[in-house]
Amino acid sequence: MQNNDTIAAIATPPGRGGIGIVRISGSNLQQFAQAILGKLPDPRHAGLFNFLDQDNQIIDQGIALYFPSPNSYTGEDILELHGHGGPAVINLLLARCLQLGARLAEPGEFTLRAFLNEKLDLAQAEGIADLIDASTANAARCAMRSLHGEFSSAIHQLVNALIDLRILVEATLDFPEEEIDFLQSAHATEQLIAIREKLEQILAASRQGNLLQEGIKVVLAGQPNVGKSSLLNRLAGDEIAIVTDIPGTTRDTVRQSIEIEGIPLHLIDTAGLRETSDIVEQHGIARTYAAIEQADLVLLLVDSRHGVTEEDHSVLARLPERLPVLTVHNKIDLSGKLPHLEEDTSGTAVYLSAKEGAGITLLKTALLKTAGWQANIAGEGAYMARQRHLQALMRTRELLARAATWLHTADQLELLAEELRLAQQALSSITGEFTNDDLLGEIFSSFCIGK
Ligand code: GDP
Repeated sequence: MQNNDTIAAIATPPGRGGIGIVRISGSNLQQFAQAILGKLPDPRHAGLFNFLDQDNQIIDQGIALYFPSPNSYTGEDILELHGHGGPAVINLLLARCLQLGARLAEPGEFTLRAFLNEKLDLAQAEGIADLIDASTANAARCAMRSLHGEFSSAIHQLVNALIDLRILVEATLDFPEEEIDFLQSAHATEQLIAIREKLEQILAASRQGNLLQEGIKVVLAGQPNVGKSSLLNRLAGDEIAIVTDIPGTTRDTVRQSIEIEGIPLHLIDTAGLRETSDIVEQHGIARTYAAIEQADLVLLLVDSRHGVTEEDHSVLARLPERLPVLTVHNKIDLSGKLPHLEEDTSGTAVYLSAKEGAGITLLKTALLKTAGWQANIAGEGAYMARQRHLQALMRTRELLARAATWLHTADQLELLAEELRLAQQALSSITGEFTNDDLLGEIFSSFCIGK
């Protein structure tokens, strides 16, 4: 997929704006600059230019920036034309670039080139897309840390520690008669323990980042009139989250997205789940069930005067058993109960009044806790991990657990060596050292054009 033809795209969002930017990246931009600007701008110096068409008529006047290879975003030569942000003028500028031989860039192609030219690794490239897509301030900060390379450097440290251990094990394979003593004196067991501990820390921090990015998916259940709308309004307060597409769900299955302490909360409604012969409705119900499969927990709302009813039990029975259930006993102002929280083996129950607001903080805390949010890790150290990263980390965890068993028995050194090799490969897929073209295509196609 390596291409080094010249690509161009509008880098600013569609519509009207103060400025609009057309970006060109390629191996030799001299002729583009000459034709559009009359000369190549000084490297990395903003200059005011007339942008010219093929008849030397002025399309627009604006700032041009030139970043010669390799010190540019893509690692190639880059020319940026900052014109006035009207769709017509910006499209004329883009058309001029295409006329001069540039090709319209694919989504994410600038960043793909940056990755292929080793300006950033795969996790950093994903950090850029996540930063652009971040729907909360917390998520944006977390994506910035990935982009900055904190996640990648934690992964690299772990890979290096694994390599050290692999060298030791591979060397031992060459001297079979001394193997056990040799591994013991080199503290192989301790090394593996340290690696596994570090992996657990990274996994915990990644889970937090994943929650920040994807949000907590909550299935909302409860009979009519128990106060679901009132509770959502109360929880949302002024903080309505920006609804972005949520992996595994379609937008119509999400009733509302709100934000609690900077974490997006997506509510999947069960109201429409019923037996029906209507085909359209059946499709909708199937989509809702698919969304429910991806959920993190069930929020069951009941009237505290009646508690959990038969109908509630039958709704719960249709939801996946693995989902933790958080039961909210609403309207305590009518039942005379006090706001409080009860925890037992069947789950957590919160008593509150959506109308008066009593107990709402208890619910917020319980919601975040049930979804696995750990404020202590999340504040500073969360990594903006994608599902792909979590899967790679979990696979590494499995492989290292097996490696630990082999190391313990110390009679299957080839198997130990193989598990360690696979673990290194799984970890390296995060930063892109072992990644196939299909995966790259999938990752970069989700970017916006011009990035
Ligand atoms: P939904 O059908 O589950 O969405 O329920 P609504 O939110 O529409 O509430 C139904 C009725 O219950 C409305 O009249 C609300 O004002 C009332 N309600 C909701 N929560 C409370 C509460 O905590 N206390 C009292 N007294 N009334 C409530």
